[in-house]
Amino acid sequence: MASATSLPRSVLILGAGISGLTCALRLAEQGHDVTVMEGSDQLGGLGTFFEHDGRTFEKFYHCMLPSDGPLLGVLEHLGLKEEIYWRPSSFAYAHAGRIYPLNTPVDLLRFSPLPFLDRIRVGITGAWGRVCSDKGLDDVTTSQWLQGLSGKRAFNTFWKPMLEAKFGDRYHDVPALWFWTRFNREKGESKGEVKGYIRGGYKRITETFATRLKDLGVSLRLNEKIESIDLDANGTPFVQTTRGQFQADELLITLPWPTLTKVATVGFKERASVPTWDIDFQGVINHVLFLKRPLTKHYWLATPEPTHPFDGVVETSTLTDEEDRGQGRHVVYLTKYVHRTDPRFTQPEEEIKQTWFKALQKLFPDLKSEDLEADYLFRAPFVEPIYTRGFSRKRPPEVLIPGLASLATTAQVYPVVTSWNGSVIQADKTVELLKNAS
Ligand SMILES: Cc1cc2nc3c(=O)[nH]c(=O)nc-3n(C[C@H](O)[C@H](O)[C@H](O)COP(=O)(O)OP(=O)(O)OC[C@H]3O[C@@H](n4cnc5c(N)ncnc54)[C@H](O)[C@@H]3O)c2cc1C
Repeated sequence: MASATSLPRSVLILGAGISGLTCALRLAEQGHDVTVMEGSDQLGGLGTFFEHDGRTFEKFYHCMLPSDGPLLGVLEHLGLKEEIYWRPSSFAYAHAGRIYPLNTPVDLLRFSPLPFLDRIRVGITGAWGRVCSDKGLDDVTTSQWLQGLSGKRAFNTFWKPMLEAKFGDRYHDVPALWFWTRFNREKGESKGEVKGYIRGGYKRITETFATRLKDLGVSLRLNEKIESIDLDANGTPFVQTTRGQFQADELLITLPWPTLTKVATVGFKERASVPTWDIDFQGVINHVLFLKRPLTKHYWLATPEPTHPFDGVVETSTLTDEEDRGQGRHVVYLTKYVHRTDPRFTQPEEEIKQTWFKALQKLFPDLKSEDLEADYLFRAPFVEPIYTRGFSRKRPPEVLIPGLASLATTAQVYPVVTSWNGSVIQADKTVELLKNAS
């Protein structure tokens, strides 16, 4: 084992999403011998891109918030700060075929799907959520907490459909701490909401990472799918990939948690200190539409009613410059959170595209088939944990096996919101503890 003050000489980072890339940057800058192994042919994980008409677009909608300090710090470090631009952003809620903006107290007072008294209670819930302490919220469910503040009727009409949209029938046990942090991240701006995007898209970020990492001597190995993680007879960690076996002084794992539980051998799992391996993940489907016309002025339109096959209409072109999306092109993501075992997750692509577009036309009756320039469909099986009460106690630790294996993954980000910013915070924590554990 390396001395108390030095890091292992060689670190094998598994996975090249924002977690893996940030860990690689930090460790390489500290002078360590870093190799990154990524199973796909792209860097960036859930922030990867596809090409359309000479431009690149994220497979899953992505933007930044002014409160994403640690992420913005990394982007500044990479020389990208000046490339980020900010635009006002707004939220709306679809109910019974009507669209209600919901950004100000006046909007809420006009929100007729709720009886007037319930609008007041929802408003009070929001105001209280901003000032109350998060103490004890990990052990209370979001449903209990919201019903206590907003009342049962407002919960059933307003909050419950949004929780169901995110977690399906597993919403019951989601802790209030999850809701509280999410609500405060999204609503953290006192001068009205703004969101940020980067010139050239998220590809610009991963490309800049790649250049910097290569300059630092990091070996970036794409299409290197990890099939198993183990320790050899001397206790040295190694991985088996589709192309061979590789070992290092230390593994830094950033794979999605369900993947790790699958590829780690029984021997590895027995050595790792983990409160539980049993953390399930929610998946997502994104249907990306390139339209010749805008739909709304809102970045996010919640569509939680069961009549819609998707939970939200995310019009990213309300934030992005034409230079980044093409002249006259409007970009809309229809999004649906769904577990990978749900038959909807594996529904044939053409079927989803057709059904969802038709459902969108019901919401926007003047939307014509000719308005659609092109569309694409993407699915991700592992997006974020399906949180359960007391999740802070189930959260996996940074150090799995002291001096041999560490972890920086989405399952640990809680209660911080699952995001690139949350992953940067987690990566920094893990790198710091890895240094101390070596
Ligand atoms: C629909 C959607 C919208 C989002 N919107 C935003 C947003 O607006 N802003 C924001 O900040 N965040 C957003 N996020 C969240 C953000 O994308 C994630 O929190 C973040 O990307 C997680 O990064 P990660 O590196 O921890 O994991 P991942 O991005 O999942 O990276 C894990 C990496 O491991 C690789 N891998 C998996 N299995 C193997 C294997 N066997 N061998 C080798 N490699 C493997 C994967 O290919 C991947 O590259 C969104 C996510 C989704 C799905």
